[in-house]
Amino acid sequence: MEKQFVSRRLRPDLVGVEAYSTPASEAAVVRLASNESPFPPSPGFERDLVAELRALSLNRYPDGASMRLRRALAERHGVEPEFVWVANGSNEILQQTLLAFGGAGRRIVTFAPTYAMYGRIAAVTATQVEVVPLDPPFAILEEHAGRAAAANPDLVVVCSPNNPTGNAQTPVAAAALAAATGALVVADEAYAEFSGSTTLAGGAPPRDVMVVRTLSKAFGMAGARVGYCVADPGIVEGLRRVALPYHLSGPAQASAIVALRRADEVDGRVAAIVAERDRLARAMAAISGTRVLPSSANFVAFRPPGGARAAWCGLRERGLLVRDVSDVLPGHLRVTAGTPAEGDRFIEALEEVLA
Ligand code: PMP
Repeated sequence: MEKQFVSRRLRPDLVGVEAYSTPASEAAVVRLASNESPFPPSPGFERDLVAELRALSLNRYPDGASMRLRRALAERHGVEPEFVWVANGSNEILQQTLLAFGGAGRRIVTFAPTYAMYGRIAAVTATQVEVVPLDPPFAILEEHAGRAAAANPDLVVVCSPNNPTGNAQTPVAAAALAAATGALVVADEAYAEFSGSTTLAGGAPPRDVMVVRTLSKAFGMAGARVGYCVADPGIVEGLRRVALPYHLSGPAQASAIVALRRADEVDGRVAAIVAERDRLARAMAAISGTRVLPSSANFVAFRPPGGARAAWCGLRERGLLVRDVSDVLPGHLRVTAGTPAEGDRFIEALEEVLA
């Protein structure tokens, strides 16, 4: 990417941190780059949302404690509302977590390869990062927990299913890491609905584990920007101390409340996306020389023969946008499971590009 001019007044430790680059949103392309849901909101959802929006007084600030939304989420997970906190996407939950529990003089352990935002938020909050590398198939084993403990971290983040590899850790991995390190373990479960495996199976997570979720993926609400966590009330109180007043807008809260009321619509969609993911994986594996990583999420990482960049460009020329993840997973691209029609176009284009 082209280098941008940056003011000499910038904090010196941010000079090397570039702005997060999001894929261009041209209408003409099939967007399989951001792990969004291909399903637009149902007509019933739109009707309910309009009613909710009409009841809002936009001249007034929204509920700063987001109580209605937190009660709905608490009910979904069988916990008290004090165990739930909400923000603008799970990214903001992660940012609040590092603001409250990380920062200068504190250390976070991440397991590589993983979601790039952990490192970025750590940099922005001046939190030191210790990276523990994992080997395929990217399970966190006792030796990795040992290496994490040796770093004497304040925080450990586990992404399950992991972006971009797609593998899930065992549901007890987060608690085991908390025990091994004594740190607060952040279990990022942005894609948990696609895997069926979660640290929240028994209701509230263990005391030193906070589970981070989002409505951006399985719920198909990426545009509303709502994420949340389920954690001990003491952790939630920490996040509230760094949150800006009224950080989550009234329309965002309303969208999420309607989505949760209609949560039963999500199950069928998740099943369809999982079936499409598995179909894409099989079709790619049948292309000679292509390595496909097994996935428990709504995307599949794969290594095309001839290099990630060439395949990415070939797909882009054919109107398909996938994610080049070769910076964290050398040689690999990541494709989101969309509709079967989008999948057909993708497979056809990939076969052409790799022919
Ligand atoms: N965690 C992971 C692992 C992700 O892949 C993403 C989105 N790419 C997020 C968190 C953040 O999503 P959002 O802010 O939309 O909730």
